[in-house]
Amino acid sequence: MKSRELSHRRKTDFIRLDTGSCDACWDCIEVCPKQVLGKINVLWHRHVIIRNAEACNGCKKCVRTCEKGAIEYTYIAGLQAAELRQKAAVR
Ligand code: SF4
Ligand code: SF4
Repeated sequence: MKSRELSHRRKTDFIRLDTGSCDACWDCIEVCPKQVLGKINVLWHRHVIIRNAEACNGCKKCVRTCEKGAIEYTYIAGLQAAELRQKAAVR
């Protein structure tokens, strides 16, 4: 898997996953209203991943739910990404 693709599966414009801290409880998947999150559940690879980054609306429900602190809210990074997309669109 390419590193860019891997990175895409660990963050959206609003959140970033620390898959090493994830204990695969799947609570964040349950609370996400946009079905952004998914599972890797193969042998010892058990952690949450981003399945649909574009759908993330930054509601923070996953961040509040995760007791392991495995999901970080990155709002500023999200703003920067949105700005960059906007600039790219007007070129
Ligand atoms: S709530 Fe936290 S520990 Fe549970 S699956 Fe989601 S990221 Fe992993
Ligand atoms: S911030 Fe909201 S929409 Fe985005 S992944 Fe978390 S729960 Fe889902």
